[in-house]
Amino acid sequence: MAEQTKYIFVTGGVTSSLGKGIVSASLAKLLQARGHTVTIQKLDPYINIDPGTLNPYEHGECFVTDDGAETDLDLGHYERFLNVRTSQANNITTGRIYQNVIDRERRGDYLGRTVQVIPHITDEIKRCIQLLAKEGHYDFVITEIGGTVGDIESLPYVEAVRQMKWDLGKDALVIHLTLVPYLAAAGELKTKPTQHSVKQLLELGVQPDILVCRTEHPLTDDIRVKVARFCNVSVEAVIESIDAETIYDVPNLMANEKLDQVVLSKMGIPFEGDAELSTWNDFIWRLKSPKEIVRIGLIGKYIELKDSYKSIVESFIHAGAANGVKVKLEWIHSESLSKENVAKKLSHLDGVLVAPGFGGRGIEGKIEAIRYVREKEIPFFGICLGMQCAVIEYGRNVLGLNEAHSTEMDPDTEYPVIDIMEHQKSIINKGGTMRLGQFPCQLKEDSIAMACYGKKEIMERHRHRYEFNNDFQSLYESKGMRMTGVNPESRLVEIIEIPEHPWFVGVQFHPEYKSTVAEPHPLFIGFVQAALAGRKVEETEKELVDS
Ligand code: GLN
Repeated sequence: MAEQTKYIFVTGGVTSSLGKGIVSASLAKLLQARGHTVTIQKLDPYINIDPGTLNPYEHGECFVTDDGAETDLDLGHYERFLNVRTSQANNITTGRIYQNVIDRERRGDYLGRTVQVIPHITDEIKRCIQLLAKEGHYDFVITEIGGTVGDIESLPYVEAVRQMKWDLGKDALVIHLTLVPYLAAAGELKTKPTQHSVKQLLELGVQPDILVCRTEHPLTDDIRVKVARFCNVSVEAVIESIDAETIYDVPNLMANEKLDQVVLSKMGIPFEGDAELSTWNDFIWRLKSPKEIVRIGLIGKYIELKDSYKSIVESFIHAGAANGVKVKLEWIHSESLSKENVAKKLSHLDGVLVAPGFGGRGIEGKIEAIRYVREKEIPFFGICLGMQCAVIEYGRNVLGLNEAHSTEMDPDTEYPVIDIMEHQKSIINKGGTMRLGQFPCQLKEDSIAMACYGKKEIMERHRHRYEFNNDFQSLYESKGMRMTGVNPESRLVEIIEIPEHPWFVGVQFHPEYKSTVAEPHPLFIGFVQAALAGRKVEETEKELVDS
């Protein structure tokens, strides 16, 4: 559509966690609903090359793209809102920027010159922003700058934004997110932190065009005028971002505040009426009027931090809405499970999901849970490590392979039913070296997977080093566990099922990365359906209202 890509920068002030990612995704949704092509990029100011080596406690879930990039979890929101795939180019860190520049320096590209933050680092930041626009021929690139304005590590990014704004004029725009706190003692909303934060941006040479003010209470007209006056923006450009019931409400909230219209007017792009959100609102309606509740246990070891399983949680929201039910997740720490208490903790559940993970902590609890749900015929969904645990459990308790294990946990096990992939054995570096990204998988007829997907060839995303050990395949198949999804080239087992069980599916890949509002994931839909079919406890009227 547009010849010149338009650049929208989203910065944050006062504190982190104001919802830059959701506001960016919501604005993108509104522009997309008006027929524009949009992508969103996250620039992270930390030195790691990517978040792949970070503990989930540090940074929440690591989101994996089709092309195998290990990225910030905000990219998950972008994909779920827009139903457009992202790639490595959508998430850049300071580490990567520096690595690119230093590689060039070593090659001799800057021979004879001093390499400096300005212009070399800022030029590389600008190149990464513009490259994304070029690759995808987008009308809009929305670039979210991680961190908070004023942080030392964010300075080169803000400087790159200043330069691009200068170069591009109307074709670049800055949205600054700030906090307008409510002081209960004074009974008032306070604008001072916003004023300070904008001043800080101004000191760096950037005048924001739009202010999105996160608040717990509606912004009065007086407050809007005051913010506008102190911060040199028009009153229409002061946008309220009030706490929402669900993140999926934010596109509508932003539309009510006319964020998209203000953006388009400021960039000189003609538009008519409101963004067309009818499909989105169908989803919202289904989400908010569930007819029943299903209870699903999510077993993992990072459950203190729910962001560690972000994509799984969102996939259940999509699949619940698709089935007209509310999925109530019960978080169960794998370390808290034992043979003695497993019945007490799981017997009331309609389904159990065992989450992905690394290392041995909590593994025996996961295996105990799987034994219980297998024997009690409770629907089971195992993802990555969750699938591997299902294989270990079956080996130990059905096939009699004493102390069968994954060589990740027990390198000397007599029965290595899960083993490191051959090509992984020689890899020493930890960063970006797993089996990553999208691979094809062929499904067997008459399998649960085939019934869910409705096709034979699927593509799913991976992030692991260990695999089902094919030496054991015929033994497992002869004793009731079926390998129903296999990589057509490498023959690696990607899906296991127990046909005798109502719904027992383990997948080596991560289906949760591909579920979006527009296309909820077929396996999550199938799992929720199975949980619904075998529902144990009827919900109370109150639970439905509260949901
Ligand atoms: N730790 C396991 C592996 O590397 C599983 C990884 C995961 O669950 N993402 O194979």
